[in-house]
Amino acid sequence: IVRLDKVNKHFGSLHVLKDIDLAVSSGEVVVIIGASGSGKSTLIRCINGLEEFQQGHIQVDGNDLVPHGKATKALQKIRTEVGMVFQQFNLFPHLSVLDNVTLAPMKVRGWNRVDATETAERLLERVDISDQAAKYPTQLSGGQQQRVALARALAMEPRLMLFDEPTSALDPEMIGEVLDAMRELAKEGMTMMIVTHEMGFAREVADRVVYIHQGEIAEEGPPEQVFDAPRNERTRSFLSRVL
Ligand code: ATP
Ligand code: MG
Repeated sequence: IVRLDKVNKHFGSLHVLKDIDLAVSSGEVVVIIGASGSGKSTLIRCINGLEEFQQGHIQVDGNDLVPHGKATKALQKIRTEVGMVFQQFNLFPHLSVLDNVTLAPMKVRGWNRVDATETAERLLERVDISDQAAKYPTQLSGGQQQRVALARALAMEPRLMLFDEPTSALDPEMIGEVLDAMRELAKEGMTMMIVTHEMGFAREVADRVVYIHQGEIAEEGPPEQVFDAPRNERTRSFLSRVL
């Protein structure tokens, strides 16, 4: 469903992504790990067109992103098909939880309020937060806000979900509830690309772990291989620092 071919990205003179080749199949859960500044966020952001790249090719569910591609039709299509959850929850502060979830389906998909509300209620139930539907984001804990952000992304019925450190801004006691919701989603067969520092979670849910070092894929494989028998010296040294 996702394919990157020789993707290169520069920020000025900084070469942030170097010849990235990566293919993700439908239903696969890929976890991306790597040190701070290695290019994980940039990689994720290129896939839904939040960042442009200079060389290579990205295909998402049959839509092509090309170098320097800006307001293309394909980009619009990708934005409606790909859900994203960030470190910061980015909820609309002036909208209730329910309205946060119904907004995009009504605006972008043209659903009527009744259908959008029904779907939103089902999704809020699914992330275990239906009792908070009438509240505003500031009235919720970080863990609750992040689960609303997840429900909001799912309301667009995405074909692919991207996560960029979804639990990094959370207090420790709230990390579990967000990871639980993501675990459920993975079980249901959602295609997911997840940047995280939660190595236990990565080991458990990932079909494949990708280790990025200075803008390059230094190692990838099933979690047992990458975590227990890394082939690359750099992976070994990174893991010894984070595990
Ligand atoms: P972290 O784990 O800290 O989130 P990361 O792996 O997500 O790191 P990126 O955010 O992708 O790293 O950044 C990769 C490199 O690109 C870093 O050196 C960063 O300073 C640089 N960079 C990121 N965004 C920009 C930008 N908008 N302009 C210039 N440089 C940037
Ligand atoms: Mg990042």
